[in-house]
Amino acid sequence: MKADKYIQNYIGGKLVPPLSGKYLENIAPATGKVYSFIPDSDDRDVELAIQAAKSAFPTWSKADTRTRFRLLMRIADILEQYLEIFAQAESKDSGKTLKLATEVDIPRAQSNFRFFATSIIHFPSESHYNPGESINYTLRQPLGVVGCISPWNLPLYLLTWKIAPALAAGNCVVAKPSELTPMTAYLLAQACIKAGLPDGVLNIVHGYGSKAGQALVEHPSLKAISFTGGTETGRKIALTAAYQFKKISLEMGGKNPNIIFADCDFASMMATTLRSSFSNNGQICLCGSRIYVERPIYEQFRDEFVKRTQFLKVGDPKSTITDMGAIVSQQQYEKVLSYIKLAQEEGATILTGGQAVQLSGELSGGYYIRPTILEGLDISCRTNQEEIFGPVVTITPFDTEEEVLTYANGTQYGLSTTLWTQNLSRANRMAEQLEAGIVWINCWMERDLRTPFGGVKNSGLGREGGFEVLRFFTEPKNVCIKY
Ligand code: NDP
Repeated sequence: MKADKYIQNYIGGKLVPPLSGKYLENIAPATGKVYSFIPDSDDRDVELAIQAAKSAFPTWSKADTRTRFRLLMRIADILEQYLEIFAQAESKDSGKTLKLATEVDIPRAQSNFRFFATSIIHFPSESHYNPGESINYTLRQPLGVVGCISPWNLPLYLLTWKIAPALAAGNCVVAKPSELTPMTAYLLAQACIKAGLPDGVLNIVHGYGSKAGQALVEHPSLKAISFTGGTETGRKIALTAAYQFKKISLEMGGKNPNIIFADCDFASMMATTLRSSFSNNGQICLCGSRIYVERPIYEQFRDEFVKRTQFLKVGDPKSTITDMGAIVSQQQYEKVLSYIKLAQEEGATILTGGQAVQLSGELSGGYYIRPTILEGLDISCRTNQEEIFGPVVTITPFDTEEEVLTYANGTQYGLSTTLWTQNLSRANRMAEQLEAGIVWINCWMERDLRTPFGGVKNSGLGREGGFEVLRFFTEPKNVCIKY
């Protein structure tokens, strides 16, 4: 298991170079320096991967669930055994802290394999009985070759969240990880070889989304696409897929509200709000970037939140005392800083943060930004409407439940909402009315992998997680027997 300098594609069970022989530079966000090279794959590599997956499908789709269970569990064990190597690679590739990669990203990737290895054993098929007349039963058959396209913020975590159920359900996969964070997908390929996954069952093609990703989405043999990423990329994929009637599952952007009522458990809310605002530099689709606070505790909240945020240490991702590492890329770093500038033009007061952090030595070229809290913005301004996907939150007071519901639901997005209150009736009433796929009450990021996961409006189409995703990755066929 090795994070080599030249990353290879994983096609037909082998680690292979791109057919073009061309590579892209892979930059470590902590230093801003090139540290490895990524295959610049194109439609020819995608074609090879699709053909390998097609050849593997007849055997894999008919393998009994215990065989798939055993192989997926073996992959999970290898991820566990090499946790350190995977976590170091994830941290270096994405700029996130080694602590986060070690405690969250890689353990969750293991859980994804274990969870879906066991889920497929428990996945029920339905039957409908008409006494004295007929019985219907519904087969749930794998689709064929499916595509899994994932983003850079939780690289292995989100890639395996798609690959594991797709494989468990008997499909063969061609995956395209983000070109910004390819290293752990490359290590995963090595783990699959070590685990003895049959050749062609999983294929990983690296490179640009607009080239390799687009070629994958357009391929006529691909039966379904599971995508996580930005809303505009999702729209493009949906347009391409629609023409060929491909099944799609889209997990896209968010601008999640965090609603805090005066009757909340203040200590618990404050500790969690720090996490929900700035974990992984705010680069989690579920982070709450619009914070609405009931007026009686607004000032108390603001002062405490600002004070605690100022204690967060931005720095070397490898250090155990760092809370926030580097932003994933120069482009994302510039985007976040441009939004801070825009917020000022829109009338924001910067309560803390608001600027880049210049580190020294080998980290001097890295992409670091102080966690930023903005106040005094209009609900409808761009800063409050558009996804920034960085360590930037806005805070706004509110007076009534109706008012805050309008604020919360007032964007194009609808991924998740966090709600803090001790009033059970209010919590349930609001949960019903919030336009979001996920509502957390008095918590954040409590993930139970059995639950449906996804967003509404421009945040998502379809659901991942639990049996929902196994339904996505299978075709129901009804068989009716008259007697
Ligand atoms: P992008 O949409 O830019 O990219 C996502 C993936 O799609 C990457 O692998 C990318 O490749 C690929 N891609 C880009 N263009 C195409 C195309 N035309 N055809 C096929 N694939 C393509 O998103 P980011 O990587 O920037 O991720 C951040 C976004 O992801 C945020 O908006 C965030 O909210 C969202 N997200 C949503 C989650 C959810 O569950 N709803 C969870 C996590 C993130 P490449 O990188 O090479 O361009």
